[in-house]
Amino acid sequence: KAVVHRICAGQVILDLSSAVKELVENSLDAGATSIEIALKEYGEESFQVIDNGSGISPHNFKVLALKHHTSKLLDFRDLQLLTTFGFRGEALSSLCALGDLTVETRTKNEAVATHLTYDRSGVLTGERKTARQFGTTVTVKKLFSNLPVRCKEFRRNIRKEYGKLITLLNAYALISKGVRLVCTNTTGKNVKSVVLKTQGCGSLRDNIVSLFGTGTVSCLEPLTVCTSDGCTVEGFVSKSGYGSGRSMGDRQFFFVNGRPVDMPKVGKIVNELYRGANSRQYPIAIMNFTIPTQAYDVNVTPDKRKIFFADEGSILHSLREALEKIYSPNQA
Ligand code: ADP
Ligand code: MG
Repeated sequence: KAVVHRICAGQVILDLSSAVKELVENSLDAGATSIEIALKEYGEESFQVIDNGSGISPHNFKVLALKHHTSKLLDFRDLQLLTTFGFRGEALSSLCALGDLTVETRTKNEAVATHLTYDRSGVLTGERKTARQFGTTVTVKKLFSNLPVRCKEFRRNIRKEYGKLITLLNAYALISKGVRLVCTNTTGKNVKSVVLKTQGCGSLRDNIVSLFGTGTVSCLEPLTVCTSDGCTVEGFVSKSGYGSGRSMGDRQFFFVNGRPVDMPKVGKIVNELYRGANSRQYPIAIMNFTIPTQAYDVNVTPDKRKIFFADEGSILHSLREALEKIYSPNQA
């Protein structure tokens, strides 16, 4: 019962970045190795997520966008063992309610793809054959157009919404190994530009190079932390003296078991130690925490950005020690 309540709680789509995030996570859940996010007018006109994942089987076409339809949660006990991003079945139904949703999809079993349209309540309204490679394309046009107040706000703040989205996509691009991730934005008369791009080949380091350049990577110090209870932290932080004046939100990325999360306490520790020696600057910090799944709970907020650790103290302590070695080696 508690699980059902938590699943129902809250609204998933709050802004442009949470909308696109849900689609990207669906592509990752579908095992895609190539994901393109195509924006029109910074996402104000439309956004589209194109993947080469599993595709959607015809028997799911009708129910796909209905509230709480999910193919991922087989048993409520699965919540503890969850390896997929999605499980609530809320994203597509919420997107239908907030914009014009179409889906094109093809599984390995289908000879041709199908183009699907849905109405505001998630009911399938159209279905026709189309040409497409294996995978899925979800397109949302005119997000929030049916909510005049929110829509006005959305359009006024579109650059800010876009900025937040790009930061989020950088996070997924950094942490996704073996996934080629590209984001494009088309403005005016079909002027299409590549906003970010990873090759989908290798390590976190390779992804940092793709996104931020070799110059950035040479200013980073690798970080490895292991605790006695089986937690690890791996990543990179700015070398002392090589931070940037840019706001920290831009260049600080934290992950737990490959999921982008907010970690204000970790951010505070790294900023404090770094700034002890380098005032007025922020370090770049990219850290992936590997934590046994029974030791934390991601299911705290609908966007899954906040998490609870069973034993936060010990890992933060070990992290602090490792960072002290980097930033104040004489004392450590
Ligand atoms: P959830 O991800 O929580 O299951 P969603 O509303 O995000 O719910 O998606 C509903 C269902 O649609 C998913 O469970 C999945 O079966 C299917 N789906 C959505 N996007 C994709 C995709 N890109 N590739 C394959 N299947 C998808
Ligand atoms: Mg989903």
